[in-house]
Amino acid sequence: SLTQRLSGTFERLRGRGRLTDSNISEAVREVRIALLEADVALPVVQALIQRIKVRAVGQEVMRSLTPGQVLVRIVRDELAAVMGAQASDLNLNVPAPAVILMAGLQGAGKTTTVAKLAKHLKEKRKKKVMVVSADVYRPAAIEQLQTLAGQVGALFFPSDASQKPEAIVKAAIDDARKSFADVLIVDTAGRTSIDDAMMAEIKALHGAVNPVETLFVVDSMTGQDAAVTAKHFGEALPLTGVVLTKTDGDARGGAALSVRYITGKPIKFIGVGEKPDGLDVFHPDRAAGRILDMGDVLSLVEQVEAQVDHDKAKKLAEKVAKGKKFDLNDMRDQLEQMQNMGGLHGLMDKLPGVGQLPESVKQQVTGKEVPRMIAIINSMTKKERRNPDLLNGSRRARVARGSGLTPADVNKVLKQYQQMEKMMGKLGRGGMKGMMRGLSG
Ligand code: GDP
Ligand code: MG
Repeated sequence: SLTQRLSGTFERLRGRGRLTDSNISEAVREVRIALLEADVALPVVQALIQRIKVRAVGQEVMRSLTPGQVLVRIVRDELAAVMGAQASDLNLNVPAPAVILMAGLQGAGKTTTVAKLAKHLKEKRKKKVMVVSADVYRPAAIEQLQTLAGQVGALFFPSDASQKPEAIVKAAIDDARKSFADVLIVDTAGRTSIDDAMMAEIKALHGAVNPVETLFVVDSMTGQDAAVTAKHFGEALPLTGVVLTKTDGDARGGAALSVRYITGKPIKFIGVGEKPDGLDVFHPDRAAGRILDMGDVLSLVEQVEAQVDHDKAKKLAEKVAKGKKFDLNDMRDQLEQMQNMGGLHGLMDKLPGVGQLPESVKQQVTGKEVPRMIAIINSMTKKERRNPDLLNGSRRARVARGSGLTPADVNKVLKQYQQMEKMMGKLGRGGMKGMMRGLSG
């Protein structure tokens, strides 16, 4: 999974102050492989990778967020951007009957989804629903819909297989109006693969019945093919949404990303089982997490973000931007924020892979280090904190005694301070934009 891949990359990135071209390409390579393994279509992977790279280059890394974490956040943000906001429910905002047209290949799950949607509309939105089949090629398909309609308590308009699909649906619309149905769901015929005749037929049907929702139904297990199918249907029809079926059998989850990216249309529902109740509202955030198996990493990043004091961070950024000196007070602020996060130690254990690092390695970045550093800074005078150059040998010895630690500990803090100060200096100009973006993201 991406998590496993990235945690290895994390280790290599840990402790480095910024994302560089070479460590980005290393990490991006892992992201690319993970996306492909999740069965995301290649053009989609390429577009995503490009966006991730552009955002990552030049991103400065602040304090508690390691380059690896920043990168995970970028990946997450980009995936979420592709997945889109929380999908809206079906639009029924037209004079009754609101017509919903189903489109997709044979076997995608259209007929099953008609029954699921009828049940959903009936139970969740208290609608009177009628269904009709325009699949005039297979009598068994019409019977299948009739049976399902009976199961979910929807009105069924019988089809006359000798009629054209448009005629059937027009008659169904009349009947729905007379029966005071709020919604008419139109099931259609699909071929096993894209062909021109099928596309022409569904386009004609769409033109004749003017549906308020045109839903593309696609089998998530078809992976790469799902992207190709989505492209064709998306070009042929003004889709209003997507239903991704059989997600219960698909562990990889890449189709969601591909189909959403290629059609640009929201995934409104996912099929999670064969039965009429096997339908869920689509949650873009969860889907992104599932694709990447990033659950723990995402919650970690969220936790870090929640704890970072954005106001203080912003003030510091402004100070750096104005060319003001980063002093030991600023460093203490940062250390306190790290401490507020409940210690990185607890957080690190949440990271798959990282949790298995030797204790000694973990202690270096976490453990008791932070409170000790704060104690040392607290033992300095206000003047010393503002002007660390004052800290000569005898002052350092005094600070060590005051904090109950050794002069070597004091020296270590001052050395870390110098490194941070140098980094802050570099941030002053070019890095500023990237840093502000990172902070406000
Ligand atoms: P259509 O040709 O597009 O109308 O597809 P059908 O609705 O007839 O479905 C094809 C097969 O997929 C049937 O066996 C369904 O039971 C099955 N199916 C549809 N949706 C789902 C789903 O979300 N999960 C599972 N496990 N099976 C599904
Ligand atoms: Mg069918």
